[in-house]
Amino acid sequence: MERKPHVVAIPYPAQGHVIPMMKVAQYLAENGLKVTFVNTEFNHQRVTKALSQTGNIHELVNLVSIPDGLESWEDRNEHGKLAEASVKIMPKELENLIQEMNRTESDDIITCVLVDFYMAGILPVVEKFGIKRAAFLPAPVALLALTLNVQKLVDDGIVDADGTPLTNQPIQLAPLMPKMSPMNFAWACFPDPSMGKPIFQSIIQNNESSKLIQRLICNSSTELEQPALNFIPNCSPIGPLLPSSHRLGKSAGHFWPEDSTCLAWLDQQPPNSVVYVAFGSFTVFDAIQFEELALGLESTNRPFLWVVRQDTNRDNEIEEAYPAGFAERVKNRGKMVGWSPQEQVLSHPAVACFISHCGWNSTVEGIGNGVPLLCWPYFADQFLNRSYIVDHWGVGLGLEKDETGIVRKEEIRVNVERIFDDEGYKSRAVKLQAKIFSSAHEGGSSHLNFHSFINWIKDN
Ligand code: UDP
Repeated sequence: MERKPHVVAIPYPAQGHVIPMMKVAQYLAENGLKVTFVNTEFNHQRVTKALSQTGNIHELVNLVSIPDGLESWEDRNEHGKLAEASVKIMPKELENLIQEMNRTESDDIITCVLVDFYMAGILPVVEKFGIKRAAFLPAPVALLALTLNVQKLVDDGIVDADGTPLTNQPIQLAPLMPKMSPMNFAWACFPDPSMGKPIFQSIIQNNESSKLIQRLICNSSTELEQPALNFIPNCSPIGPLLPSSHRLGKSAGHFWPEDSTCLAWLDQQPPNSVVYVAFGSFTVFDAIQFEELALGLESTNRPFLWVVRQDTNRDNEIEEAYPAGFAERVKNRGKMVGWSPQEQVLSHPAVACFISHCGWNSTVEGIGNGVPLLCWPYFADQFLNRSYIVDHWGVGLGLEKDETGIVRKEEIRVNVERIFDDEGYKSRAVKLQAKIFSSAHEGGSSHLNFHSFINWIKDN
């Protein structure tokens, strides 16, 4: 029997990391590699429960799990705690898993471990086994550039040794890269400021372990991030990872079941008419902001599709969170779902624009479908991504908070109108879409990089 090179893929245990790593896994499997995908036990249960019956991911990729170091009742949305616990326990768990797999699957012993870049703490274990060590970055390269340079930020007096900003002056790591305000650095802008320090420390530790990475790939492209890629030349872009660009099947790895009724609803809407509203997997709103958003969408007088996760509203049960009479008033043009098949939604001709928290996946999926964005960043790399969308690519507008920290309904209405009225946003988004497609398609730079990576894994 032919021996297949065997890759073990390990994402960081969050939704925005699992979905793109699953796409990489799918592509590797379709190109002749055996792939084992390691989720945490907590996420494995959610992923297998939510897995669409129509996809063939089970046939392509072997799904297994290891513990994340937290108790079953602990909150996985506390990033600092989750990062700390998983870095402690997952290397040992992975070591056991590799030993077990090499013992029982003698035909397909493990050739390469592919970790999420921010899980590089696992690599010392991999080095012990003499297995190839690769990493995948599901975030912008500009974020990588920032986090790899934290010591320089400390030395230059921009942040203190805990990562707390000491100045408000925006910085630029290299010419043409996005300007970043220290208050918006990925670790410094969490709603709970106590998370900044542990996350900053985990970045420093991760940088140390990342020296063991032999190959680094990322979900980006030269058209999107050339200046940042010049700055970090060993990071090889293979993206954007989109079903259309990589001929991937339906995306897998979702933590919630997708409500596909919204696709039939979209079919009923005129082309280029719908405002799609989704804030990824973590963003939460307080009662005032939630209500203001609902009223803002209502005031646009346009059809809208709004993803309202069960845990979206911090203060209320979701059923009680909507303004009085809202559901009745918008029933003919508003659709709310708990979790959408987002990539299918964004590729639907009825969708005109996307109100987004600017997670990197949502950003890439938006422009990958030529959809202009209205940016409402929340934390982590999302402010940086807004800067790309608004200042660098010109494919969207920012939504601003008032002096009390609320994005008001009028702000939403006015900016939705601006996106519809100025065709420049759509035409730039469509142009950018065409460019990134050409790099991801056969013969393009991302495509060549991906295949060079696959050949590296296959080479003895
Ligand atoms: N997503 C989805 N349905 C939804 C909302 C989000 O499938 O209703 C997917 C989205 O397509 C993306 C991921 O969840 O692939 C969210 O990742 P992102 O980086 O945008 O945000 P995060 O959740 O990490 O903040």
